[in-house]
Amino acid sequence: MLDQNTTGSGLSLSRSHKLFEEAQNLLPGGVNSPVRAFKGVGGNPVFIDHAQGAYLYDVDGNRYLDYVQSWGPMILGHGYTSVVAAATSGSRSCFSLDSPTQAETELGKLVMACVPSVEMIRFVNSGTEATMSALRVARAYTGRKKIVKFSGGYHGHADMLLVQAGSGVATMGLPDSLGVPAEATVHTLTAEYNESVAVADLFRMYPGEIAAVIVEPIAANMGLVPPAAGFLETLREVTQREGALLIFDEVMTGFRVALGGMQERVGITPDLTCFGKIIGGGLPVGAYGGRRDIMQVVAPIGPMYQAGTLSGNPLAMAAGIATLQELRKPGQYAELERKGLFLEEGIRKALHDAGITAQLQRIGSMFCLYFAEAPVTNYTEAKRADTSRFARYFWDMLARHIYLPPSQFEACFISLALDDGMLGETVKAVADVLRG
Ligand code: PMP
Repeated sequence: MLDQNTTGSGLSLSRSHKLFEEAQNLLPGGVNSPVRAFKGVGGNPVFIDHAQGAYLYDVDGNRYLDYVQSWGPMILGHGYTSVVAAATSGSRSCFSLDSPTQAETELGKLVMACVPSVEMIRFVNSGTEATMSALRVARAYTGRKKIVKFSGGYHGHADMLLVQAGSGVATMGLPDSLGVPAEATVHTLTAEYNESVAVADLFRMYPGEIAAVIVEPIAANMGLVPPAAGFLETLREVTQREGALLIFDEVMTGFRVALGGMQERVGITPDLTCFGKIIGGGLPVGAYGGRRDIMQVVAPIGPMYQAGTLSGNPLAMAAGIATLQELRKPGQYAELERKGLFLEEGIRKALHDAGITAQLQRIGSMFCLYFAEAPVTNYTEAKRADTSRFARYFWDMLARHIYLPPSQFEACFISLALDDGMLGETVKAVADVLRG
């Protein structure tokens, strides 16, 4: 595995390695979020010095095309002029306030104009807070305790959501992490992604007890797994029939696969939606929103408490407004689709030419290359992918200055800053790497 100071094509990472050594003494694993430690590919992480447009620049002076984009938010590219201007001057030096601001209403209006299912919204500081709060709303509104999530679905790190799923069979949740008491996940039920029958079974097993089904409308925390035809539709029907809420976790897909998120693409109206990432333009943000009658349970108009010192932060609101204004300009999503298709076709051809079986799965500007024999439709299948082959691919691509997510189970993101030349460069790198 190429995790040495110098990779195959002469990429020097010595300063990164030195910084990582120091960081490991101070931060658990040297990082503030586990995937950043590169455990999924072996070896040490690259320390980034700065980023601009489509590029990341590391502390050793290497430049990379960025296909991670801070795990999704930087859809316009890094340092986008109007976003930087908004966050620095638009907020008029108010880093945090104790009172409401017009910017919160403005960003709320923008989200609602793009995502009609959202009739009221509450801003928080992360995707984790958004999903945690949306589920509290669902429990408050329905008066029920149980929730359903899907295996391989990630909704942040709240206790009740850190549950490893059983394979294909609905199971009582068992905590996935030490420190999460079994009592915290006792009401979390799991089903295999894309298996709506398993969800219907859960409703039969627990009649009148399930408050909500929470789902990533594109599963993008186990690589990239599109919803099977009819899967999301069935979730909508079953939840409606059973008096439970349907929560779309669009933290990743919101404003990514369409202005109106995945719900626009599939024409399904969830009861609640969670956002994060893009709506803060790269600054810490999250939000949950949905039907007005449901959102009215939230304090201070309702009895469900949820709060935050930094919620609706002026810098994050300003960056979010500038980002969404840019994304609303005509043609942006068609352009992202064009770029996505270009990459998909190029990578497929490279696979074919190299005689390698792998699965390129893509929706719009999100994609993943599984080193697997057949298309991946759920977590059980995703886990069968060849992670050591992926690790080799990752390091070989890095050596060619292409920065991919350091895990087989994370999605790649395309930004508007990637031009045709850069995409061509990427396809050539993939072809070189696969030819070996
Ligand atoms: N939901 C989804 C679908 C996510 O992808 C993530 C994070 N990648 C989260 C929730 C949690 O968001 P955060 O990391 O901002 O807490």
